[in-house]
Amino acid sequence: MIVSVASGKGGTGKTTVAVGLALSLNNVQFLDCDVEEPNAHLFLKPRITETSPAFISIPDIVEERCDYCGECQRVCAFNSIAVLKNPETGKGSVLVFDHLCHSCGACCILCPRGAILETKKQIGVIEKGIARDFPFVHGKLNIGEVMSTPLIRQVKKEIDPKKTVIIDAPPGTTCPVIETVKGSDFCILVTEPTPFGLNDLTLTVDVLKTLGIPSGIVLNRSDIGDDGVASFAREQDIPLLMNIPFDRDIASAYSMGVPMVDVKKDYVYLFRNLFARIGKAI
Ligand code: SF4
Ligand code: SF4
Repeated sequence: MIVSVASGKGGTGKTTVAVGLALSLNNVQFLDCDVEEPNAHLFLKPRITETSPAFISIPDIVEERCDYCGECQRVCAFNSIAVLKNPETGKGSVLVFDHLCHSCGACCILCPRGAILETKKQIGVIEKGIARDFPFVHGKLNIGEVMSTPLIRQVKKEIDPKKTVIIDAPPGTTCPVIETVKGSDFCILVTEPTPFGLNDLTLTVDVLKTLGIPSGIVLNRSDIGDDGVASFAREQDIPLLMNIPFDRDIASAYSMGVPMVDVKKDYVYLFRNLFARIGKAI
């Protein structure tokens, strides 16, 4: 079973819940797909046993074969190639904006003169290891890289279908989140009972409905705020799986990189109960 843990915005306690759930279950694998800012390792402290570079393919222009016809610029849906041609001399230049390239290969396939080859560009690393007694994988995107989805895809290739896979998703509702939650059996949405929390939750619920992924809500700092999220959950028929009231001990442990289940053992049973409810829901 694959359970992703997402939130419409950062700072809601998504990683706290993902880590707490992983530490409460058996036969788990943990993937941190928040590759722009992975932080689950700060709590799980995995022993990294393998580090491998992650690459994407980008176009490599063979200028001597190119006649500056502009076909590559026309077919690129991501505006990653610009062709400049001097009409008087017939000479020009092909500019590749590799940070925008989605590695679709269209320019390479459709160049009429075979003037585009593919070259590899490293965008980050994938680290694998053992956290306590379960396998741990995360991706780290290089600073300055904007394309996180290829790295997320590569992290997800490590999914072990024989395990209960807990995936910590990036915050938000954009492409990296969609790439992460795609293929999940269930998505836990972590939010807080505030108008901001409700607004971002609404957007995430729309995304998950479009993807056809069942979801449930964990309400963090549930005793601080209003009842907007609870009302929304009732209206939308989305199960409110668990409430986590504000607790100074949990907050203090968090600040020192200590998982909540290590300071509040009762949460082990609450997370197991949450997981049982997920099983029933799907
Ligand atoms: S499609 Fe090929 S030949 Fe035409 S401008 Fe691009 S690289 Fe040059
Ligand atoms: S590989 Fe695709 S996205 Fe990248 S430059 Fe070529 S057409 Fe554009």
